Amino acid sequence: MKPMKKIPGIAASKGIKIAKAYKIEEVDLNFKSTNVEDVDAEIKKFDLALEKSIEQLDTLKNLAFGKLTDEELEVFEAHKLILLDPELKNGVETKIKEELKDAATSSKEQTDLFVMMFESMDDDYFKSRAADVLDVRKRLIANILDLKLPELTSIKEEVIIIAEDLTPSETSQLNKEFTLGFATNIGGRTSHAAIMARSMEIPAIVGTSTILEEVEDGDIVILDAIEGTIIVNPTEEELSKAKVKISEYEEELRLMQEYKTKESLSSDGKKVELVANIGTPDDLEGVLANGAEGVGLYRTEFLYMNSSELPSEEVQFEAYKKVLETMGQKPVVVRTLDIGGDKELPYLKFPEEMNPFLGYRAIRLCLDRDDIFRVQLRALLRASIYGNLKIMFPMIATLQEFRDAKAILEEEKAKLKDKGIDVSENIEIGIMVEIPSTAMMADTFAKEVDFFSIGTNDLIQYTMACDRMSDKISYLYQPYNPAILRMVKNVVDAAQKEGKWAGMCGEMASDPVAIVALLGIGLHEFSMSASSILPSRMQISKLSKGEIESHVETILNLTTADEVEEYIKTNLI
Ligand code: PEP
Ligand code: MG
Repeated sequence: MKPMKKIPGIAASKGIKIAKAYKIEEVDLNFKSTNVEDVDAEIKKFDLALEKSIEQLDTLKNLAFGKLTDEELEVFEAHKLILLDPELKNGVETKIKEELKDAATSSKEQTDLFVMMFESMDDDYFKSRAADVLDVRKRLIANILDLKLPELTSIKEEVIIIAEDLTPSETSQLNKEFTLGFATNIGGRTSHAAIMARSMEIPAIVGTSTILEEVEDGDIVILDAIEGTIIVNPTEEELSKAKVKISEYEEELRLMQEYKTKESLSSDGKKVELVANIGTPDDLEGVLANGAEGVGLYRTEFLYMNSSELPSEEVQFEAYKKVLETMGQKPVVVRTLDIGGDKELPYLKFPEEMNPFLGYRAIRLCLDRDDIFRVQLRALLRASIYGNLKIMFPMIATLQEFRDAKAILEEEKAKLKDKGIDVSENIEIGIMVEIPSTAMMADTFAKEVDFFSIGTNDLIQYTMACDRMSDKISYLYQPYNPAILRMVKNVVDAAQKEGKWAGMCGEMASDPVAIVALLGIGLHEFSMSASSILPSRMQISKLSKGEIESHVETILNLTTADEVEEYIKTNLI
């Protein structure tokens, strides 16, 4: 029997599951070039790999059918067309025959020509084809070398995924039916894979450092994302304990259901709003199932990340319309494209930067590439008549950026109306407060914006100068630091003074200790992953807003994050 191991990590998305491990490892596609002796055999090897790659794409497409949009499904066809291109087959075969290069080398060299050709083109659409060729080449060479590529979409049995890390777009491809959970070596609570896991309600543990090395494919694992431990090859006793814990957790979830249709009220009857963060329209199921009062953050960048090219106005319109229609008259805050930092697009070239989180991203990119921005704004404006839309600009650092973004929005609105296209007249326009300069100038912003949503995931990293992805300095990532709480109060007070509303869509909004302080500070809207709504509503129903208000000044005058935590736990929870 294999020995049992317990591996600690950071519980990033709550839940507890037992299943077989499925490891996702980067395959080493490096190979040594050789001189071909048997030309026919080498051509045959290439032909078989080509055929196999085409078959795999067909299978993947069939498996993804019904789960992906038509446009996403087209990616498989586009990849197939590259493989079916006679220039690929003829080019590779000629190299094998005439230059006696092996199949892998010939394939690499021939596809390099395609990549160079696409990359030299001016048009973004053609540039993005280069990324497709590179993707297809990986598959082709893996098949020539007889290596298995990890295929997230092809998993057909219940598993727990074990990986070094998952990119946000890999996370969004996880099939909830079979992926019971995942554990990774790296990442923190606010890395995007963790955030996505919470909105998809997939239990997850991140930042384990060693899980990939310690688990074999097929090992039984207990993923305890309540505590933050993974038990590999559990004993019978551990298995029984885990099963009891699973039933207890299910019972807890069942009890919370009673809060699904209740209003979000504190014990002294003060109303707040509990709304959900979503990454894709697919997350709406969880939003409705958990009784959210709206969507407080729709991260539209996932629409761009799950596509092989810039999503068209039509594709975006359909996605926004679906979200608005599904939510009916409930508010839906859509954040415009927030790409950059740890979120890249394979088809859009980003400059090499020392600090991408401080670089060319989000609204900065959109104001520079207003061709991309305008497409999104048009899609949003057209969709606005289907529900209660609010538009929010990310990473606003100066009032000028807000004014410029709003001016572009107004221009697009006027153009649509000139064409006789209906646009809602009641769209609120707000900003994310993620940058300290904006938090400090909230009084000035409050005169021009309709609302604020405080993005603490970034606000904490910029205020504390602490990379939100880094494990080494995670001690500095302090939501309870009085510096953060004072900034939040500054924003909330500024909004109230101008009769505007302030919400929070960073992960801090669902932290049980932070919720106490935020309620006292007067935050109006709390936006969080759907699975946090019921626990937070239950918690708030037991807190007296009036009583907490009388502690706010003391809390803001405490000197450290630890003191704040201790004070709240001792006096207010
Ligand atoms: C934030 O920064 O708090 C936020 C909600 O945005 P993101 O996590 O997508 O950067
Ligand atoms: Mg952010």
